[in-house]
Amino acid sequence: MDNTHTEKAMVMIRDDFLPFALPDIGEEEIDEVVQVLASGWITTGPRTKEFEERVADYLGVKHAVAVSSCTAALHIALAALGVGPGDEVITSPLTFCATANVIVHLGATPIFADVSADCNVDPDEIRRRITPRTKAIVPVHYAGQPCNMDRILECTREHKVYVVEDAAHAIGAKYHGQMIGSFSDATAFSFYAIKNMTTAEGGMVTTNNDALAEKMRLLSLHGISKDAWKRYGSEGSWYYEVVYPGYKYNMTDIQAALGIRQLAKLEHFLDVRQRYVAMYNDAFRDVPEIHTPETKGDVRHAWHLYTIQIDTERLTIDRNKFIEALHAEHIGTSVHFIPIHLHPYYSERFGFKRGDYPNAERIYDRIISLPLYPKMSEEDIKRVIAAVKKVVSMHRR
Ligand SMILES: *Cc1c(COP(=O)(O)O)cnc(C)c1O
Repeated sequence: MDNTHTEKAMVMIRDDFLPFALPDIGEEEIDEVVQVLASGWITTGPRTKEFEERVADYLGVKHAVAVSSCTAALHIALAALGVGPGDEVITSPLTFCATANVIVHLGATPIFADVSADCNVDPDEIRRRITPRTKAIVPVHYAGQPCNMDRILECTREHKVYVVEDAAHAIGAKYHGQMIGSFSDATAFSFYAIKNMTTAEGGMVTTNNDALAEKMRLLSLHGISKDAWKRYGSEGSWYYEVVYPGYKYNMTDIQAALGIRQLAKLEHFLDVRQRYVAMYNDAFRDVPEIHTPETKGDVRHAWHLYTIQIDTERLTIDRNKFIEALHAEHIGTSVHFIPIHLHPYYSERFGFKRGDYPNAERIYDRIISLPLYPKMSEEDIKRVIAAVKKVVSMHRR
């Protein structure tokens, strides 16, 4: 390591720097993973099956297929529904690049529909962008707040298009009292390191459709048919058949063991997130320069992110400077997200420019995601609040 790197590492590990996010892994997870490592079976096996069953049970959905990431889950869901060249898939511009990248991987065209003030895709904008080429819609439950599924499903049933939900932020979220995971054709979840629960890397795709579940399972592991094993051989036989050129997206039992223990803690994690959100909301209520997240209707928000919008007209600094000022207070933050259409690949390939999605852009210019995770203490939350208030008071117009 050269000096620059050492210095950087030292800055990163300053013990008074509050990171933007951290996973919460306990002894239970460590023990469970060690057991798998010692067992002799480390890749997809009994623990993965158990994890799938537990997730399906928790969400109240018939099938759950464990995969290597949410990106993989979105990819195989769209592939299994037959999305391909010539098709259009409508999604939000205010999302992580993976949501749009998988559409491009399949040779289809991503079409963006602008978001509303709650950062979720606007159902009217979806409706406006449906054409005879539209094959599917991918709503993103931004920050863990469910989209208006009634209006989205009403529109997609009318036009006979598929729905695959990007629920990377939304495990445990409810819509009209029902868990996100069984509303549409398929729902993709993420267990990335800093999501609401983690398997380090990992994902899950859920569905109530038997045939779709079978197809997605096939696609998740080389397109190898298990039926062939059942038909022609005893278990463990060397014989298999490839019925589709599938992908290598399976989850390992090491990840699943971690996931089983994390799932058991998820409701607790969600409670802590909810409690911290209430603290943030209370503290910022009387700060007119800070707009707290807009929440809507009969939902349980999974609060993966707590994203404030700063009122740039009332401040002498912009969002980037605000982030720098928080960093100087030793608070880590992030921005969710750089709208997809502004990334070079998307603007160059599809001709997007600033002005195409005014709501997403306006939100992007003002948002800051504050630290929110169960490993934080109430003291940490108070520190963030104090730092935000200090930065506001120093830069008030
Ligand atoms: C994290 C994330 C993904 C990708 O999840 P991975 O498990 O890392 O593939 C997809 N969509 C959104 C909105 C995300 O935040």
